[in-house]
Amino acid sequence: MKISVIGLGLMGLPIAQRLMHCGHDVLGWNRSAERLAAAQAEGLNATADLNRVISQGEIVVLTLSDAAAIETVLFEQLEDGLLKGKQVIQMGTISPDESREIQHRILAAEAEYLEAPVLGSIPEAKNGSLIVMAAGPEAAYQHCLLLLRCLGKEVEHLGGVGQAAAMKLAMNQLIAALTAGFSLSLGLIKAEGVDVEQFMGLLRESALYAPTFDKKLGKMLEHNYANPNFPLKHLIKDLALYQEAADKNGIEPSISESMLAVLQQGCDAGYCEEDYASLYEAINPGFDMDVDEGC
Ligand code: NAP
Repeated sequence: MKISVIGLGLMGLPIAQRLMHCGHDVLGWNRSAERLAAAQAEGLNATADLNRVISQGEIVVLTLSDAAAIETVLFEQLEDGLLKGKQVIQMGTISPDESREIQHRILAAEAEYLEAPVLGSIPEAKNGSLIVMAAGPEAAYQHCLLLLRCLGKEVEHLGGVGQAAAMKLAMNQLIAALTAGFSLSLGLIKAEGVDVEQFMGLLRESALYAPTFDKKLGKMLEHNYANPNFPLKHLIKDLALYQEAADKNGIEPSISESMLAVLQQGCDAGYCEEDYASLYEAINPGFDMDVDEGC
């Protein structure tokens, strides 16, 4: 299948590479020259000519950061008429309302739209083990199934456009909540001098355990959040989208509002581009540094 991948960032590049690995004919596009060059250096067929990239694909995969980027690229930069007859698959994390609005504009351009946000990150994109949550017309889903199965170990059709976006925000809200909850507990354990391994041992045996705790523990203990797969700034974006959708549906806002405020404090303290586990630093400011500061 001829596939255009639009946006070759942290997720876009491994998704494009995985599609190539499955035998698809992939052509990529990226706004910044740096990432475009990096993708070309990794062997991806990619160019800075957006019109050409979209014209050549039967399926257009969007791996852009947010809805604003999608609107700019598809409805401001792209030449009119080039979407006609294409199947667009939107894989970024956006809100249900944003997704429905993009679907509306894509249908008006005489193209088809499927939303397919994903759970998992760079390693899962590379080896095709993402969890793919799709929503949109059944025919569009069937048309894209081969492509989606190349990327995902789990591929599910959830219903109408907006429902996969809602599922993704529900999942990412849990990323923030679980990381915040674990940071609160680990902070107390360290502050009171309780043995961290004993804490983890009991936690692992309990019904409260989640695998993400062990995945993030090392980063928190070492205070090292470099080379993120999923930076803090993206979790802030996603929790803000959750908040917006929750407000609209009358869900009590104060817990997610507080989490968002603490995530923002972490960003303001310089962790925006670091792993989201740096939320631990915003929750436990200062008192938990293990280094001997000589005082
Ligand atoms: P990323 O590394 O920041 O890449 C974002 C991409 O969007 C880049 O190609 C960037 O181009 C492009 N972009 C942003 N604004 C643009 C604009 N106005 N015009 C044109 N291009 C623009 O992000 P990512 O981690 O790949 O994430 C992509 C999407 O997947 C996001 O919605 C994210 O929430 C979601 N997601 C991420 C992960 C993860 O683990 N990273 C997992 C699941 C879902 P430039 O190079 O020019 O900036």
